[in-house]
Amino acid sequence: MITVGTTAGAAYIVAALLFILALAGLSRHETARAGQTFGVTGMAVALAATVAAAVHRDLSGAGLTLMIGAMAVGAAIGLWRARVVPMTGMPELIALLHSFVGLAAVLVGWNGYLHVEATLHGPVSGQAAALQARELLGIHSAEVFIGVFIGAVTFTGSIVAFLKLSARIRSAPLMLPGRNRLNLAALAVCAVLTTWFVIDPALWLLVAVTVVALALGWHLVASIGGGDMPVVVSMLNSYSGWAAAASGFLLENDLLIITGALVGASGAYLSSVMCKAMNRSFVSVIAGGFGLETGPADDTDYGEHREITAEGVAELLGTADSVIITPGYGMAVAQAQYGVAELTRRLRDLDVDVRFGIHPVAGRLPGHMNVLLAEAKVPYDIVLEMDEINDDFDGTTVVLVIGANDTVNPAAAEDPGSPIAGMPVLQVWNADNVIVFKRSMASGYAGVQNPLFYRENSAMLFGDAKDRVEDILRVL
Ligand code: NDP
Repeated sequence: MITVGTTAGAAYIVAALLFILALAGLSRHETARAGQTFGVTGMAVALAATVAAAVHRDLSGAGLTLMIGAMAVGAAIGLWRARVVPMTGMPELIALLHSFVGLAAVLVGWNGYLHVEATLHGPVSGQAAALQARELLGIHSAEVFIGVFIGAVTFTGSIVAFLKLSARIRSAPLMLPGRNRLNLAALAVCAVLTTWFVIDPALWLLVAVTVVALALGWHLVASIGGGDMPVVVSMLNSYSGWAAAASGFLLENDLLIITGALVGASGAYLSSVMCKAMNRSFVSVIAGGFGLETGPADDTDYGEHREITAEGVAELLGTADSVIITPGYGMAVAQAQYGVAELTRRLRDLDVDVRFGIHPVAGRLPGHMNVLLAEAKVPYDIVLEMDEINDDFDGTTVVLVIGANDTVNPAAAEDPGSPIAGMPVLQVWNADNVIVFKRSMASGYAGVQNPLFYRENSAMLFGDAKDRVEDILRVL
């Protein structure tokens, strides 16, 4: 079905193919750059085709100016944000962008209602009359409702994710009494409202579904704890895709349907892969932590921690046979990767076996640590995934935990009542010596105490990770 002028329709198909190539390219390191180029080219073709389609539909001069002006302003803001955002701010930026897609879907749904259903009691619009003649009015009403529902859930869910990821609100889960029942009730209400709206498309029904869906999106993401946020971000990515696809049906835009479905399906797949990596139930996470019960706050007294100086660490490293470095979010904050890379080179020159252990959700976005280490030119072959290295901590002389916390927390493996219970972690505590680089005894992103810091073989090296690594380099 090509619903616009033939040239624009052909351009849409080219853009859709470029988006498929972009996804394929982005799935591997070696082809990621090419994938990026395909994506950008596809989007440029899609924008040009959208303008061409508008011209084909005799859009007025003022309408065209408004459309091109909006594109220019959007592109300028996008370029500016992409240039200035630090790597650590990427996940919250992505969450914010998802919220825009959700809001756009709500507005498209409302616009569809105002152009069709709202005119049924007055002078019937041409579009409404055409739909009535083809007996497609009910389908249109369902599209309006579904678009508004998915869009509103995505909008508020993404806003909460943005607030949590940027630490503007606490990342701990909101535990309202009967929260699972609240979510189920909201879903049931929306299903009833949809049926009712298809039979009688009244304005108050649309207002009601918008309000319920906005509240549901907020509650779904607020109920999920910090440790599960990586899955939430990819899940919202998927929702934003389905919201775009729903808008595509309303706007009769094939490209939007294809692109939305691609984003929706790939986001859902990524969410399920991440759930597997974190030993979480996919259904439970998408249902706002359904079935996950968190015990009372952990106020266990784990005893005293031990401190060590940079000189002490340098001495230990100088006599070590093997070292494993496990970086986390703190390495990204401190921008310590260059010092860490230099430390790796020096130790390898001293014939120490140095490797890296990377947790799948270390940092704040998938692959975060790999990107930082590649940027600092750490050789790929010594950077290992968690599953490849987890058995090797036993027998390793020194583990350097650089700004990691949740991803090395033994409570995940040993305390069934912990909010991160069951999440696979790097078993650093099995090494002979564990040195933890951080600035204080504060908890990590999931807000959970870390018993690792109090173990007999652990020592804390306090301060900014970059400064401390440089201190060690000076002594070495
Ligand atoms: P954490 O967020 O658990 O801990 C990071 C630690 O770094 C903090 O405890 C902090 O302690 C320390 N730190 C911060 N700044 C510095 C600095 N300048 N120098 C030294 N230390 C510093 O990190 P992890 O990487 O272990 O775990 C990632 C967490 O983020 C997980 O809970 C994961 O679920 C979540 N997450 C991951 C996403 C992903 O896709 N990867 C997306 C969203 C969330 P202190 O303040 O005392 O210095």
